[in-house]
Amino acid sequence: MTILVTGGAGYIGSHTVIQLLESGNDVIVLDNLCNANPEVFNRIEKICNRRPAFIEGDVRNAVLLDTIFSNNQIDSVIHFAGLKAVGESVANPVLYYQNNVAGSITLFEVMQQHGCKKVVFSSSATVYGDPASIPVTESSPYAPANPYGTSKMMVENILTDLHISDNNWQVALLRYFNPVGAHPSGLIGEDPKGIPNNLMPFVTQVASGQLEKLSIFGGDYPTQDGTGVRDYIHVQDLARGHLKALEALAENHGCAAYNLGTGVGYSVLDVVNTFMQENQLDIAYQIVERRAGDVAEYYADPSFSSDRLGWKAEHSLKDMVRDHWNWQKNNPEGY
Ligand code: NAD
Ligand code: UDP
Repeated sequence: MTILVTGGAGYIGSHTVIQLLESGNDVIVLDNLCNANPEVFNRIEKICNRRPAFIEGDVRNAVLLDTIFSNNQIDSVIHFAGLKAVGESVANPVLYYQNNVAGSITLFEVMQQHGCKKVVFSSSATVYGDPASIPVTESSPYAPANPYGTSKMMVENILTDLHISDNNWQVALLRYFNPVGAHPSGLIGEDPKGIPNNLMPFVTQVASGQLEKLSIFGGDYPTQDGTGVRDYIHVQDLARGHLKALEALAENHGCAAYNLGTGVGYSVLDVVNTFMQENQLDIAYQIVERRAGDVAEYYADPSFSSDRLGWKAEHSLKDMVRDHWNWQKNNPEGY
């Protein structure tokens, strides 16, 4: 089976590509490399003795997409390509709607023209905003709090409407919680450009001496230790969720949204302490003001994903901090 993976050179995409190749699929990656390094393909080859076909290009390029679909018998698409920095989306919303929404529309139009109607979409728990109750179920209302989250909600709406218009469209909307960790080989992992916004890459860069000190945003939240609580999920578990979703799409699945989280919330201090214990390292930190727009606590109810996809996260927080550090330690400058 040939799967088109948009954004397959990125963090979550590259881990998923490996599992697709290891399961015997043919993979075509379309990525414009705006947030990725082509060295990832050499690493993928080292891990699985195969490399995916790679086309450097943009999902907004309808002509290129048409050529890809004309030249290949593509069974389904996993659509990772998108921009993901919340702050940048607030500063430049048009860029986010152009890339994430217009890019998706272009892709779905070409898929429709070629009769390829199976798609797994990278959505996000940010579509829930500040959820009214936790754990968060898939029926919690949409309440995105920034243009990035709104762009994910809009694409979910477009795919839902496509399925209503033509129920041959088979759609899985995967709402990721907080992806962390790396492939256990330490050969591929998250490679943020500049100073990381997210907790785990920041912690690993403090551990490696590239950054001096972690600022913990807020110590006065109504949580067990006052710091923010999130549902961290190992990228290997997340990647496996995409293979489970593809299996479901092959069986006249319809259109559904799935939470991909562990169902367990950990605080920032839980993450930092587990990182220090597991890796036998010190992390300098200070507790500072809350970060604007942050939510105190949320974690997934993953029971629908378990019932319907037969998918469950298997990795512990210890696995996540060990594997993330293993990647960072072996690749201090990234790829
Ligand atoms: P990433 O930036 O590592 O990967 C995205 C890839 O898409 C990059 O390789 C980038 O070069 C490519 N890309 C971006 N715009 C493109 C375009 N117009 N045409 C072609 N390629 C393009 O990010 P990631 O963490 O792997 O995230 C993958 C997807 O999952 C994104 O859609 C993101 O919004 C979503 N997501 C990520 C997280 C997270 O915390 N990492 C959480 C929830 C959802
Ligand atoms: N966080 C922090 N310091 C940082 C980055 C993040 O204290 O340098 C906290 C943040 O306030 C939140 C948690 O870590 O409680 C996860 O943040 P991240 O940006 O990784 O993901 P988010 O859930 O905000 O998308």
